[in-house]
Amino acid sequence: YGDGNQKIDYVFKVVLIGDSAVGKSQILSRFARNEFSLDSKATIGVEFQTRTLVIQHKSVKAQIWDTAGQERYRAVTSAYYRGAVGAMLVYDITRRQSFDHIPRWLEELRSHADKNIVIILVGNKTDLENQRAVPTDDAKEFAQKEGLFFLETSALDATNVESAFLTVLTEIFNIVN
Ligand code: GDP
Ligand code: MG
Repeated sequence: YGDGNQKIDYVFKVVLIGDSAVGKSQILSRFARNEFSLDSKATIGVEFQTRTLVIQHKSVKAQIWDTAGQERYRAVTSAYYRGAVGAMLVYDITRRQSFDHIPRWLEELRSHADKNIVIILVGNKTDLENQRAVPTDDAKEFAQKEGLFFLETSALDATNVESAFLTVLTEIFNIVN
C-alpha cells in the first residue's frame, strides 16, 4: 500500500542513465514533482523518487532511480541496475558527445540489467532547438537499429516527459499482463 493507503498493484523500477548534465535529475524532478530548476546541483544522495499512476485501471508505482554523480564510464554499480524493468537512456540534443556515448551506456546496461528490460532513448533539452547538435533522424535511426523506443523531451518546458515515462511503464505493464 502506498501513501494514503492506496492499493498498489505493481512497483516498477526504472533507471536513468546517460552522461552528466544531460538533464536526468531534472527529467525526474519534472515527472515526480512537476518541478524544474535551471541551477540544479549535481545529484546529491537521493536514490530514487516515486510517483503512482493508473494504467488500465491498475495502480502502478513507478520507482525512478537517478545516478548520484556516478556518470563516469563504468562507475554505476550493478546494484543500481538490479531489479530494473525499465531504463531511460538520456543524451542532450545540444551536446553531440553525450549522444556519441550512448552506445557505451547501452552496452553497460545490457551487461548489467535483465535482458528483457524496456529501454527508451531520450534526447533532452528540445527547448534549445537553436543549439541542436544531434539531428532527430540520427537518433531515430539508432533507436530503430537497437530496438529502443525514442522520444525528444524538454524537462524545462515539460514537453514529452510524461510521454517518455508512460511509454516505458505501459510497455512494462503489457509485458507483465
Ligand atoms: P544530470 O547531471 O543529467 O542529472 O543533469 P541535471 O538534471 O542536473 O541538469 C543539468 C543542467 O541542465 C542543469 O542546469 C539543468 O537545469 C539543465 N537542464 C536540464 N534539463 C533541461 C532542459 O530540458 N532544458 C534546458 N534548457 N536545460 C535543462
Ligand atoms: Mg543528476
